[in-house]
Amino acid sequence: MKLTLPTLPPATPGQLAWAAFGSALLELSLAAILLAAFVEKAAPPQDLPWKPFSLNHPLGLATDAKLALITADPARCRAVLLAEDVGFAAAPDRTEGFCTTAGSVRLGDAKLSPNGPVMRCDLALTYEVWRRHVVEPAARKTLGSDLSRVEHLGTYACRNIYGKSDARPSNHATASALDVAGFRLADGRQVSVLRDYDGEDPEAAFLQEVRRGACRLFGATLGPDYNAAHADHFHLDMSPYSLCR
Ligand SMILES: [Zn+2]
Repeated sequence: MKLTLPTLPPATPGQLAWAAFGSALLELSLAAILLAAFVEKAAPPQDLPWKPFSLNHPLGLATDAKLALITADPARCRAVLLAEDVGFAAAPDRTEGFCTTAGSVRLGDAKLSPNGPVMRCDLALTYEVWRRHVVEPAARKTLGSDLSRVEHLGTYACRNIYGKSDARPSNHATASALDVAGFRLADGRQVSVLRDYDGEDPEAAFLQEVRRGACRLFGATLGPDYNAAHADHFHLDMSPYSLCR
C-alpha cells in the first residue's frame, strides 16, 4: 500500500518575515553573549561595574560609581576597610550641638601627619583611594620620590563655614572634610600648597595633578584658585555635590 504524506501549504509572507526576524534575533543574542564574554575577559576589573571594588585596583571607568555606592552606606564603608586590611579604629560618636562624629574612624597608618585624625568613613576610604592611586603615583612620576606624609591641618572642627555664625555648618562639623597643607617625600623634600602651588616647577605640577585627582574623587575640592582662605591648603570634602575650584 502506498502512503502519501500530507503536503504543507506554502508559507505566507508574514510567516517568512517572522522566521527571518527570529533568526536575526538569535544571531544578535549570540553576538551579545560573545561580546560580553570578551569584555569580561579583556577589560580590567576597575572598568567593570559588576566586579567588586578593591583598593588595589587602579582608577578605572567604574571606580567612581563603585565608590559612590560604598561611601553612601557607612556599614558597607567600614566592611570595605576591613576586607581591604586598612588598619582603623572606630572613633567614639560625639555630638556637640549641630556637630557630630557619628560613623567616624581613625586610620592606623595612612601616611597622615598628624596621624589618625577622626574621619567619617566615606572620607577615610576616599582619602585612601586618592593617596594610593593619585598622590603616590604623582610623587613618583613628577618628583621622582616616594610619598612619606600627607601633612594636614585637621578634619573635625565644630563650626560653620569660615567660622561665620550665620553660615551653614561646615563639612568639618561632621568630620567629613580634610585640609591638606602639603606633602613630605621620602627623600626629605617638602611640597607646600602655600609656597609651591603657583609656578612651572615639578612641585607645582605635582600639586596640580593631586588636585585634579581630588576633584574626581571628593565632593568638593577647594584650593588657592578658589579664594584667599584656601591659599595654604586643599579643602577636600564629601559634599553630595561636585565642586572643583
Ligand atoms: Zn576645610
